[in-house]
Amino acid sequence: MAQIAFIGLGNMGGPMAANLVKAGHKVHAFDLVQGALDEFVKVGGVASSCASEAIIGAQVVISMLPAGQHVAGLYLGDEQGIGGLLKQLAKGTLVVDSSTIDAQTSRRVEVNANKLGINFVDAPVSGGTAGAKAGTLSFIVGGEKIAFEQAQPILQAMGKNIFHAGAVGAGQVAKMCNNMLLSVLMAGTAEALQMGIENGLDPKVLSDIMVKSSGRNWALEIYNPVPGVMKSAPASNNYQGGFMVDLMNKDLGLALAAAAASDSSVPMGKQAAKLFNDHGDAGYGGLDFSSIYQHYLSNKA
Ligand code: NAD
Repeated sequence: MAQIAFIGLGNMGGPMAANLVKAGHKVHAFDLVQGALDEFVKVGGVASSCASEAIIGAQVVISMLPAGQHVAGLYLGDEQGIGGLLKQLAKGTLVVDSSTIDAQTSRRVEVNANKLGINFVDAPVSGGTAGAKAGTLSFIVGGEKIAFEQAQPILQAMGKNIFHAGAVGAGQVAKMCNNMLLSVLMAGTAEALQMGIENGLDPKVLSDIMVKSSGRNWALEIYNPVPGVMKSAPASNNYQGGFMVDLMNKDLGLALAAAAASDSSVPMGKQAAKLFNDHGDAGYGGLDFSSIYQHYLSNKA
């Protein structure tokens, strides 16, 4: 069992760190919010007063932070390079960043980590808060093979599917590609269902037809956006729970920035981003992203 420092006990990090404790690892954690640390102590973790304290004796450091600037600030310090956790870590430490951030920041942290003899992987996740609690997340890992192999047994305590996407940054790029595709599929599914309903079709009947036809996709199959069609979907629970519009917008922002950097043509991604941004701006950022169906109903184009 390893001694692990865990930084960022939010909606995702809290249950992920708890699963590491459950698996028998010794976990010292830090979060800016005292309440999150108090909850972590209740499940058997150790609360630290700062990140530098959490890493004392750690073989592995895991971070689960909101965005790129938090990750860069934690590991690299401020713009002058003052502070930063990397310089305080022992040679041979493995650093795993599971935050969803831009690939450039992941690569910047890796370059600095490697100079100090520290292994780094980016390992963003898919599966949401339910997957974090159940320990069934998918980890999409970018990094050297040796670092990936080092990370695998640790990630297995928090997830079910562990993918090696390629070099550092590849985890982030794969996650962005997936979520951009998901946004297009969800918007397209909502669009087709709305058109069918307005032409007199029953949404359940239409969904059953399309799920066995060539329009079949994940949104239709297990996440139907029309209320009442699928009992277990957020749409049937006032779009509560699930994956928030605000988080989809964050991921689409990262995807479009990556596409611009690689000069990739992403007209569908841009269109989906516009729909989800407008929906968030209209005050629905806190709802599950399948609520894009409601956006179609109230915005007749
Ligand atoms: P969150 O806002 O709930 O948690 C982030 C935590 O980081 C907060 O508790 C905050 O206090 C802490 N924090 C920020 N800066 C810190 C610092 N310098 N030191 C210590 N703690 C610090 O966010 P979340 O929902 O847990 O998401 C975390 C990451 O996972 C994000 O990048 C998000 O995009 C990604 N993600 C989220 C979901 C989801 O469904 N929530 C799903 C997949 C991926």
